[in-house]
Amino acid sequence: MPILSGLNNEIIRVGIILPEDEIKEINISWPPGLHLETKVSQIKATQSIDLQVEEDGLSFKNLPEISAQSKLSLSCPDNIEALSAGYGFHINSVVAGRGFHWEKRIEVDLPGKLEISVQDGFLKIINFVDVEAYVACVATSEMGSEAPGDLLAAQTVVARCWSLALAEAKHLSDGYDVCNDDCCQRYQGTTYLTDHSLKAAKNTRGEVLVYENRVIDARYSKNCGGMVEAYDTVWDGEAVPYLIPLWDAPEQKSGYAVDDFEAHYAYDEAYCSSKRFKNVNLAGMLGKVDVSGSYYRWEQVMTKQAILKNLKKYAGLTWKRLDNIRIMERGPSSRIKFLFLLGLDEHDKPAEQMVKSEYGIRRMFSDSFLYSSAFVIKNADSLMQDDQVVLRGLGWGHGVGLCQMGALGMALEGVGYKDILKHYYPGTLLTLLR
Ligand SMILES: [Zn+2]
Ligand SMILES: [Zn+2]
Repeated sequence: MPILSGLNNEIIRVGIILPEDEIKEINISWPPGLHLETKVSQIKATQSIDLQVEEDGLSFKNLPEISAQSKLSLSCPDNIEALSAGYGFHINSVVAGRGFHWEKRIEVDLPGKLEISVQDGFLKIINFVDVEAYVACVATSEMGSEAPGDLLAAQTVVARCWSLALAEAKHLSDGYDVCNDDCCQRYQGTTYLTDHSLKAAKNTRGEVLVYENRVIDARYSKNCGGMVEAYDTVWDGEAVPYLIPLWDAPEQKSGYAVDDFEAHYAYDEAYCSSKRFKNVNLAGMLGKVDVSGSYYRWEQVMTKQAILKNLKKYAGLTWKRLDNIRIMERGPSSRIKFLFLLGLDEHDKPAEQMVKSEYGIRRMFSDSFLYSSAFVIKNADSLMQDDQVVLRGLGWGHGVGLCQMGALGMALEGVGYKDILKHYYPGTLLTLLR
């Protein structure tokens, strides 16, 4: 019986430069030996094109003899054997951290086909790439190149499942399957590929986790905080049988309420606990865009003024004062499901506003994005008088599925990738796609 997945073929379409990036000019270059294919034959004689969006389409600034094109397609081989660090088309200005405070421009090298077009007066570049090549690139973009082999292997299988399941499918209406950023999976092409990560991809080629004959929706996040969260705490819809709450530890223990924040906060035995990374170069093992630190436990201060600003931005409410925050319900890992803000509205009337979902809460309590929605208000007793809200929290990300730092902790202890996957996705089966 064939294994079911959400992606219809072996090619995934990745949005690299999007109209919302508002880019009108770009340089694309490639090394001399690259086996390049394109219908615009003059391009084959060069190693670089400067494209610009003009009234009549894409113009070639460095090759004026070529007439403007509405669409341009460039391709090179993308089978996994062809890949090496820096292989493919080099693009010098791709957005990373889209919409976040750390948003910046990075350089990437892309294998496979580039489809370049104009939409709403801006450039749009979609990368059509073989799924195996894509997951090899994602595993290194999500992890640092010094990450242990079993961590890379686990991340590669998870990235493959996530891509094939295509459960979120946020961008189908825009003509691509996934974007290149944290919104989907971070993909920086072959830029940071290492022999090490390629080996992990080749060794796990075609391996997927399945549940009831379907490729699983393999969610993952940076640091669960000690307990892996349930799918239905974070997203709408039914519970998912393999995305369930679990202690991120060798033993599943019982004995205290799973939604007890202080009990969670006191627990430091988890695979993702900071104490396991005291002598570890985390920067070399985690991705390159993020700030450093494990964020197993954290503290964050935000002014009430800044929260009121977010309340205006995200809920359209103009309040004069924030007086109290009432936390209503938590999920098993102690991530908050919903809370109430209480204060004084623009007419000096007492007001309350519900803030719900992990995403909505993280957005409300930060200028960028709060590490997680698992927190308590440290100054709850004096909140009425204070100008600031002090948050004490745990974990980094939604906490559902594989915990990347926990998987690192396991790999550092010598646990193999198959057992890492079994730990985070209980009840699933590791098998070959074809
Ligand atoms: Zn996306
Ligand atoms: Zn964890």
